[in-house]
Amino acid sequence: TVKTRFAPSPTGYLHIGGVRTALYSWAFAKHHGGEFLLRIEDTDLERSTQESVEIILKGMDWVGLHADNADNIVYQTKNFPRYKQLIQKLLDEGHAYKCYCSKEELAQMREKAEREGTATYDRRWRPEVGKTLPEIPAGVEPVIRFKNPLDGVTSWYDLVKGEISIPNSALDDLIIARADGTPTYNFCVVVDDFDMGITHVIRGDDHVNNTPKQINIFKALGAKIPEYAHLPMILNEQGKKISKRSGDTVAITEYEDMGILPEAMLNYLARLGWAHGDDEFFNMNQFVEWFDLAHVSASPSRMDSKKLAWINAEHIKVTDNEKLAELTLPRLQNQGVTVSGSLKLADVIAFVKDRAHNLNDLATECAYFYQKATPLEKDVAKHWDEDAPARMARFAEKLAALPESDWTAEKIHELFAPFCEAEGIKMGKLGMPLRLAVCGTAKTPSVDMVLAMLGKDEVLKRMRG
Ligand code: GLU
Repeated sequence: TVKTRFAPSPTGYLHIGGVRTALYSWAFAKHHGGEFLLRIEDTDLERSTQESVEIILKGMDWVGLHADNADNIVYQTKNFPRYKQLIQKLLDEGHAYKCYCSKEELAQMREKAEREGTATYDRRWRPEVGKTLPEIPAGVEPVIRFKNPLDGVTSWYDLVKGEISIPNSALDDLIIARADGTPTYNFCVVVDDFDMGITHVIRGDDHVNNTPKQINIFKALGAKIPEYAHLPMILNEQGKKISKRSGDTVAITEYEDMGILPEAMLNYLARLGWAHGDDEFFNMNQFVEWFDLAHVSASPSRMDSKKLAWINAEHIKVTDNEKLAELTLPRLQNQGVTVSGSLKLADVIAFVKDRAHNLNDLATECAYFYQKATPLEKDVAKHWDEDAPARMARFAEKLAALPESDWTAEKIHELFAPFCEAEGIKMGKLGMPLRLAVCGTAKTPSVDMVLAMLGKDEVLKRMRG
C-alpha cells in the first residue's frame, strides 16, 4: 500500500508551503487508499523546540490534515539507537568508513575542489584494494563517511520534475555520523523512510540535491528505493521566494487570524500548483478523488491573495450557520461586542454571510446587530448633514406608528417613498442616514431588512437614544 509522510523540522512556525506539501502527501495517500504519516525531524537539537512541535501539530489539526500515525508520531530524536545500528551495519559491510581528517585538511581540500570543480572530499581515508591509508592520528575521534559510488549516475524519475540524473562523481562521500557519534540529516531521513515503509516521498524541491545521496544510501542498505516527487516552491505576489522578512504571510496561524476557513485554505493550496480543468472551488473529498502528481505544475506558483479571499468567501457561503456562529463569536468578543438578546447569531450570519470574505469581516457584519457601531468620520461627513437629526426623528415617528404585527421589511419599505416625498428628498438621501442612525455604519445590507431583523423596540431605542 501507498505510504507517504510529512516530515517537518520543528524550528519555528508551520509554513504555508509546508502545509501544501503535507496536503499533497495526504491527498496522494488517500487517493490510493494508503496511509499518511507524520515524522518530526528534530535531530537538530539546537534549533528544534517542543513549542514548535506543538505549533506544527496544532496547525495540522486546524487545517484538518490528520496523520494516520497520530497516536504514534515518529520523532527522530527517539531513533538514535536505530541510526547507530545501521551506521555500524554499513561500516561492517564496507559501505562506510572512518575518516580522521582535521579541519585544516578539509579546508585545503575545499579550496582545491573549488579550483578544480570536483567533489570536495578527496576520499583520503576511503579504503580501496591496494591503497595504503594514512596513519591514524592519536586522540582524534573519526567521522563516518558513506562510500558513495565513484562512477556512473544516480537517477530517478521524479513524479513532478521527470527524469533527473546526477553523475556520482559530483557526489561526496558524505558524513553519516559526526565525531561525537550523532547521525547526520540525510542518513536519518533514509533510515526513517525505510523503517516507516514510505513508498512515495513528496517534498519541497529544496531537497532535490539530497535525493541522489539518499538513493545511494538506500541502495547500500539493500532497501527498496521510494518514488520521489519534488514540489516547486511557492512565490509571493511579486514572484519572489515567500518570506517573513519581505512581509509575506507565511505562518499558517496568520491565515487563521485573518479569518480564513481551514477548508478554504486547503482548497486554495490545492489549486496552487495543481489543476483539475477549470475547477476552482471544491472540497477535500473531491480533491482526494481528483488528485494526481501528473497534474502538479513543475514550475513555481505565485500567491494570489484576491483568489484566496474569493475562495474563502465561497466557503463561507456554504458553511453551516451554526458552525460559522461558533467561529465568529470569539472574533466578536475581540471586537468588544457582546452577543446577547433574542437575535440569534446564526440567523444574523445567514443574513449577512454573502458579504464576507473572511471571519473577521463576518464578525464586523454581525457586530452592529448587537451593538450600534461608532460611525466613521468619513461616513458622517458624507451622509449625516445638518438636517439629518431632525429628519431621522421624524422618520422614527413613522416607524413607531407601524404596529408590531406589521414590522416586516416590506411594510417598512412602504414607508420610504411617501416619507421622501413629504421631505422633498430623493430616496437615496434616506438610506444612508437611516443606516447611520440605526446601525452606526453605512455598510449594511438592505436597510429595510436590517430594521426588520433588529426589531421595533431596538430600532426605536437606537434612533431615539
Ligand atoms: N525536514 C525537512 C524539511 O522540513 C523535510 C525532509 C523531507 O521531507 O525529506 O524541509
